[in-house]
Amino acid sequence: MEDYPRNHAEFDSRFATEVACEEYLFRLRWPEGFSCPRCNSRGGWLTKRSLVMCRTCGYQSSLRAGTIFEGSRKPLSLWFRAMWYLTGAKSGASAVTVQRVLGLGSYQTAWTWLHKLRRAMVRPGRDRLRGLVEVDETFLGAPEPGRHGRRMGRKALIAVAAEARGQGIGRIRMQRVADGKASSLHPFVLSSVEPGSLLRTDDWQGYAGLEKKGYGREAIEVKLTGLTASTVLPRVHRVVSLLKRWLMGTHQGAVSHEHLDYYLDEFTFRFNRRTSRSRGKLFYRLLQNAVVVPPTPYRAMVKGLRGRKQKADHKI
Ligand SMILES: [Zn+2]
Repeated sequence: MEDYPRNHAEFDSRFATEVACEEYLFRLRWPEGFSCPRCNSRGGWLTKRSLVMCRTCGYQSSLRAGTIFEGSRKPLSLWFRAMWYLTGAKSGASAVTVQRVLGLGSYQTAWTWLHKLRRAMVRPGRDRLRGLVEVDETFLGAPEPGRHGRRMGRKALIAVAAEARGQGIGRIRMQRVADGKASSLHPFVLSSVEPGSLLRTDDWQGYAGLEKKGYGREAIEVKLTGLTASTVLPRVHRVVSLLKRWLMGTHQGAVSHEHLDYYLDEFTFRFNRRTSRSRGKLFYRLLQNAVVVPPTPYRAMVKGLRGRKQKADHKI
C-alpha cells in the first residue's frame, strides 16, 4: 500500500515531528515488520533513541544504518524537506538553492546531500528499456573549433538510449562512456536495453555486433539519407538538448566529469517520471530507494578530486 502525502499541506502536517518521520521511514524500510539481522526473527519497534529493537533477542540497530541517511546528524525531518523540495522542483535545484531554502549552515552539507540523494535516484535492479530504442552518443562540453568526431578530448562522452512510445519518448537511460568503441558502447546497451529489443542507431562501428548479443538493429547511414542525425534519431537528440539545457540552467555548467553520472541519474529520474502528476509519489519513490541504497561517505564522494574544492568543479 503506497501511502504518501498528496500535497504540500499534507506533507507539512504529516512530517511535522521527528518521530513521525522516523515511523514513516521504519514502515517503508520494513513493510512486513522489522527483520532482525542477528536472530532472523520478525518483529521489533522503534525506541526513543532512534534505534530499532528486536522483539525476540533485544538486539538494537540504528534506523538509519544502511540507508543514505547513515552518518548524518541532521534531523530526518530536514532530510524529508530536502527530498520534498527536490521532487517538487521541476528542474531540480543547485546546492546553493538547497542551502538557502533549507537554511543549512554550509554549502558543503547542501552539496553532499544532493549527491547522496542523486545516488538514491536509481533503483537497484531497475528494468531495462524495451521495444524500439534509439541509441546515440554525444559530447558534453563547450563547443570547440573543428570536428573531433568520436575521439575524446577534454569533453565527456555520454551514451543515451531513448524508448519510442508512439511518436514520443518513453523511458531513457544515459551514462558516461570512456570512448565510442564497441568495448564501451556494448556494455552500456547491455545494461540499459532488454535483449530482444530493436535498436536504432547510426552506422557507427561501435554499435556493430550487437545483433549477435540478442538485439535487432536498424543502422541508419546518416550521410546517405541526406538528413541530420537529429532527424534520423529525433528522440535521443531531444533528450540531449533537454539535458544540456538543464546542466547549463540549473547547474550553470559547473559539473565535473567525476560526478557527471550522478547528474545524469537525477535528470533521468525526473525525465522518466515527467508525466507523473503526483509530487508525493516522486517523493515516495525517492525515499523508497534511499532506504535500500548503501550510504556513501563524503570522503568517498570527493575522492579523486585531489583536494580541489567541490565548488570549483571544472566546467564541462
Ligand atoms: Zn533478534
